[in-house]
Amino acid sequence: MLEIKKITLYLVEQTLKTPFVTSLERVETRESILVHLLDEEGYEGWGEVVAFSSPWYTEETVKTCWHMIEDFLAPLVLSNQITHPSECTLLFNGIKRNQMAKAGLETALWDLYSKRQDKSLSTLIGGTRNVIPSGVVVGIDDPNQMLATIEKHVLDGYQRVKIKIKPGKDIAIIRRIRERFPNLPLMVDANSSYSLDQIDDLKALDPYHLLMIEQPLASDDIIDHAKVQRELHTPICLDESIVTYEDARRAIEMGSCKVINIKVGRVGGLTEAIRIHNLCQEHGVPVWCGGMLEMGISRAVNIALASLANFTIPGDISASSRYWEEDITIPEVCVEEGYISVPTAPGIGFSINLNRISEVMKQKKEIVKQ
Ligand SMILES: [Mg+2]
Repeated sequence: MLEIKKITLYLVEQTLKTPFVTSLERVETRESILVHLLDEEGYEGWGEVVAFSSPWYTEETVKTCWHMIEDFLAPLVLSNQITHPSECTLLFNGIKRNQMAKAGLETALWDLYSKRQDKSLSTLIGGTRNVIPSGVVVGIDDPNQMLATIEKHVLDGYQRVKIKIKPGKDIAIIRRIRERFPNLPLMVDANSSYSLDQIDDLKALDPYHLLMIEQPLASDDIIDHAKVQRELHTPICLDESIVTYEDARRAIEMGSCKVINIKVGRVGGLTEAIRIHNLCQEHGVPVWCGGMLEMGISRAVNIALASLANFTIPGDISASSRYWEEDITIPEVCVEEGYISVPTAPGIGFSINLNRISEVMKQKKEIVKQ
């Protein structure tokens, strides 16, 4: 029985080493909510809410998540008896959407539960890999700068490079990357910046043997993506469109994509992420784990998730030092020759750097069982 007696929320803010530019937003500083759970027997769990400060990626923000957790989700966790973290799906069922707020609490419960079981999170969920391949994302920038950044990451050993694109900032840079790196595992992410009438711009990318084009069309679409996929050789990968297991089922049935990017925050927690992974595995649809410019706690959950068998494509999981001067976990997430070791210690397998958290904390709230 997980009897949670106290939930503490920390609002932290860190400056990214370099600003990150997508088709929708320029991110320079990153706020996150860290969730700490304490149970009656003294076990602890940590989770991270990956919503951004403004609603450019999904409708959630740091402030909406704080509100949802403080006023709705935390009271549910404190006032109910929970035997397994997967019960959160049912427990939170009466609250619509707000996936990232739910995932922050749910992943903290998974960490606490696996510590109580004295198992690593990866072992607990059935992970089959000891190491996972690491990929990196390069934002939209001056083409020369992008090439220099990619060159550096290739030398660092990253297994796959993804670049952000948007209409007018696509084929020219892809052509230049391909001239310089003909065989680099390369993919592109449009973050919904194209419309159906720009299908020819997407078809023009077919000759560059991209691993996939991620989320070209609207963030809530699966129908038009199916139309584009029928005319495109390059696989489409859906990100923003897949918020639930049912979304994934429909997208696979419709032929809207050939690959799915699974993000724990976007789908409301690890339980739903594992269900989507299993569904995709049954249908022969490979998956990979997407990134949210997150800090070490979420990064650790991603590593455990990506140790499952159908994560056959390198994801966005890179080293802490790619983004941060200092991360909030000990040790930080490290990449060695393109791979990240899956921790074997109980829970998420990383300790928490409380000194760092106090340095970057803007707000703290304790919610205690009544
Ligand atoms: Mg994406």
